[in-house]
Amino acid sequence: MSNLRELYQEVIFDHNRRPRNRGRPDRVDRVSEGFNALCGDQITLYLAFGDDGCISHVGFEGQGCAISTASASLMTDALRGKTESEADELFQQFYGLVMGRDTADAQVLGKLQVLVGVQEFPARVKCATLAWHTMQAALRGESEVSEAVLNEQ
Ligand code: ZN
Repeated sequence: MSNLRELYQEVIFDHNRRPRNRGRPDRVDRVSEGFNALCGDQITLYLAFGDDGCISHVGFEGQGCAISTASASLMTDALRGKTESEADELFQQFYGLVMGRDTADAQVLGKLQVLVGVQEFPARVKCATLAWHTMQAALRGESEVSEAVLNEQ
């Protein structure tokens, strides 16, 4: 178990040091911003959809702690090629994981499972879910995540 934990931490460090999908992609259909006042994490998320309705382009900009950056990096990797409803399902799964609910499906979550340790640190849940709430807002066509949504957890 401790080896698994170390492996998970290494993946998080790696995604924090070298975030994937950083920057504004060539095509952008939706933009949304999120801010976690508790930690100071800030993100701008970009999404574009292909003719098949799947997410074709995804990228993010912003500043934040290691957990928020790694989470945004992992999320953007996971979103490419997904439909809106698949992206929503992934959000539900990820939210369940970091909230410590017994609903996590390892097959659906894949690499996102490295953030499972966040459930032991309730103060960091907002760091881990910021990018995800921002993605949800973007899917709804909202330009930013409302504070009410972030304060729900
Ligand atoms: Zn943070």
